[in-house]
Amino acid sequence: MTGDRRYGAIVIGGGHNGLVCGAFLAKAGLSVLIVEAADTLGGAARNAEIAEGYVAPACAHILHLLHPQVRARLKLRRHGLRLAARRLPTVALDAQGDHLTIRGRHLEGVISDDDVRAWRRLRRRLLRMAGALHPFLGRVPPRLGSDSWRDRLMLIRLALAVRRLGKREMREFLRIVNMNVADLLDDELSDARLKGALAFDAVLGTNFGPRSPGSVLTWLYRLAGEVGSGRTGLAIPQGGMAGLTEALAASARSFGADIWTGTAVKRIVVEGDRAVAVELESGNVLRTRAVLSSADPRATFLNLVGPEHLDTGFLRGVRGIRSNGLAAKLNLALDGLPEFTGLDRAALAGRIVIAPDIAHVERAFDQTKYGAYAAEPAIEITIPTLHDASLAPAGGHVLSAVVQYAPYGLAAGWEAHRDAFADRVMESIERYAPGLARRIVGRQVLTPADIEREFRITGGHWHHGDLAADQIFMLRPVPGWAQYETPISGLFLCGAGAHPGGGVTGAAGMNAARRVLSTRHGKDAG
Ligand SMILES: Cc1cc2nc3c(=O)[nH]c(=O)nc-3n(C[C@H](O)[C@H](O)[C@H](O)COP(=O)(O)OP(=O)(O)OC[C@H]3O[C@@H](n4cnc5c(N)ncnc54)[C@H](O)[C@@H]3O)c2cc1C
Repeated sequence: MTGDRRYGAIVIGGGHNGLVCGAFLAKAGLSVLIVEAADTLGGAARNAEIAEGYVAPACAHILHLLHPQVRARLKLRRHGLRLAARRLPTVALDAQGDHLTIRGRHLEGVISDDDVRAWRRLRRRLLRMAGALHPFLGRVPPRLGSDSWRDRLMLIRLALAVRRLGKREMREFLRIVNMNVADLLDDELSDARLKGALAFDAVLGTNFGPRSPGSVLTWLYRLAGEVGSGRTGLAIPQGGMAGLTEALAASARSFGADIWTGTAVKRIVVEGDRAVAVELESGNVLRTRAVLSSADPRATFLNLVGPEHLDTGFLRGVRGIRSNGLAAKLNLALDGLPEFTGLDRAALAGRIVIAPDIAHVERAFDQTKYGAYAAEPAIEITIPTLHDASLAPAGGHVLSAVVQYAPYGLAAGWEAHRDAFADRVMESIERYAPGLARRIVGRQVLTPADIEREFRITGGHWHHGDLAADQIFMLRPVPGWAQYETPISGLFLCGAGAHPGGGVTGAAGMNAARRVLSTRHGKDAG
């Protein structure tokens, strides 16, 4: 570590967005340092050894939203990114063993022709709408009420994208966009398994249930990200999520960026209204022209900058960001392949979903309103070792489960209830996979409170802050500051808390880098 070099830009956080941001800045010729508090890069998209030789995806386990420009411009393939699996189907489990496989437009299992046709129609329509939204994920949002031609042009483009859907589809878009996904699905489809799995897709990672208004918007948002992944679909990188992180780090280094792990930033040093340096927990102060923070907005402003440097209006906005997470993680190290009733090995290699109907997901969500975790959670399971045997000792497997709903603020407190929660999740999975518990040789449970502590994400939130109509696009993270800049000159946001939100997209990092490069901070730093 060389403390005496002065960097043009310092990126706080070596999660995937921090790495993407640092790589784009370095590619443009800036001298860049990325500092990561943890000993391992990747943030919520890193691997974790959960038992000797068993490597699980710590939080994120499916790669399906990576922005195509991130993949192409950072030359991730050249830097080692390989996919162990792509186009994973979704297997919607059914309590009676009548499981349904969703493979894009195709449905496999016992299901009516009417539902097959209705799903194709609905999917086509949603993908067209998502396709219209996709370009805006990779752009800096416009300013509201601004006179600048750039902002106006962007708003015109947005209106045109929706207009280009055609009159009928545009009306339909405006009709459904604020609806709840349960109503939409009930209008269109009748199969309970299909509706359950799709409703779960719409709310995964959000603080919504299927009956929450806005859950169609979050579904479209997810689909807009998936549109960019083209034919790759739901994928698992070779080497787990670390496969992606290592490729990003290699790309950043190839452009000259330095990366320090095990280096936590204690404070962003502000002089006047300008960020001039970062102070490390070691006490080292590193001066720079631009600071980019991929820590969540609350942590960035309330902890690293400090309220004393912010005006009350902005501070109120930041304090108002809703960022209490609802998703937990259960990772299992198994001494053999688990058996799920009615699923063969090929089906086990898919994305397995426990959300047998809409009511199941909604009931699970309901309980969190009263500070409890779901008695019967909705769960997304992958078994990455079926695609990449290097992640476990010979014959062993890893089961990765994202569990919704587990509230950050559990009324009874997580310390005393973490194990009971994990046991409850196990019961839910064992209903479909009897005997699973006997195979366990190691278990890792991460509640949102654990995610907050281990990954430094306020509230342990998937998106660093709710994705909802009032915290999205031009309003993210707070109204008036959606362009990655902040009231502190020279300080920018570049993580999931900024537009377009979380998921392993790299879009926030890429957009933020472009924004910096278009300002005088980027030019001075170059
Ligand atoms: C349980 C769970 C499951 C998920 N599953 C999926 C999935 O399957 N697919 C998907 O696409 N998305 C998934 N997500 C969402 C996705 O993981 C995140 O949205 C994404 O990883 C956020 O990336 P980021 O780089 O913006 O932030 P982070 O990954 O949070 O990275 C920020 C980094 O900054 C570091 N940092 C913070 N403060 C400091 C400091 N003061 N000094 C130095 N470093 C600091 C942190 O240590 C961290 O490494 C999941 C999220 C959760 C919680």
